[in-house]
Amino acid sequence: LVELKGVRKSFGPVQALRGVDLTVERGEVCCLIGPSGCGKSTLLRCINHLERVDAGEVRVDGDWIGYRRNGTKLVELPERDIARQRAEIGMVFQRFHLFPHLTVLENLVEAPCRVRGEPRDEAVERARGLLDRVGLAAREDAYPAQLSGGQQQRVAIARALAMRPKVMLFDEPTSALDPELVGEVLATMRDLAADGMTMLVVTHEIGFAREVAGTLVFMDEGTVVERGDPREVIAAPQHERTRSFLSKVL
Ligand code: ATP
Ligand code: MG
Repeated sequence: LVELKGVRKSFGPVQALRGVDLTVERGEVCCLIGPSGCGKSTLLRCINHLERVDAGEVRVDGDWIGYRRNGTKLVELPERDIARQRAEIGMVFQRFHLFPHLTVLENLVEAPCRVRGEPRDEAVERARGLLDRVGLAAREDAYPAQLSGGQQQRVAIARALAMRPKVMLFDEPTSALDPELVGEVLATMRDLAADGMTMLVVTHEIGFAREVAGTLVFMDEGTVVERGDPREVIAAPQHERTRSFLSKVL
């Protein structure tokens, strides 16, 4: 469903991605780990064209993200077409980025109505279903600041789901949370995985990766060093760099 081939991205002299190949199948959960600065966030941001790649290709469900093909050339799409593509790619960040002036329910209703043109009553009904699914049905009238970090992150997940994404990208969704709130967010993500959502998750939660992911990818210095079944990679890493990283986080 998600295909990256030879993706390169530099910021000035910094080569954040040095030719990344990665595939995530439909319904697969892929966890991405690696040291700080190795390019994990940049990789996610390239998938929904928040960053423009320097070279290589990014496709989601067969569509070139950010571009259309014109003969052999790729031509960048206008912003509103890119917005339409992004609507199908859910993204959840470390910091929840909820709209502070909107209630929980309004946070979920806003984008489906504005971007997708869904009728408001349908969007509200779906939003209530999603809040129920993340265990926050009773808090629909609260404002984000009235919720705990774990609750806010669950709202952020529900808000992304409200757009009916084909894939969900998570960038360290639990690393800004107090330790006692991590579990509830991971449980929500686990439910989502069990429902068959395609997920690409940057995380330091090795336990989550081992139990939930179908694939574990280890990145270092802008490249994929190793990938495989999480249990195998964790128990018997093939590369010294993977071994050394895991010994620090386990
Ligand atoms: P972390 O675990 O700390 O979140 P990361 O693996 O997500 O790290 P990235 O944020 O993708 O790493 O950064 C990869 C490299 O690109 C780093 O050297 C970073 O400083 C650099 N970088 C990322 N974004 C930008 C930017 N907008 N401008 C300049 N340099 C950037
Ligand atoms: Mg990052």
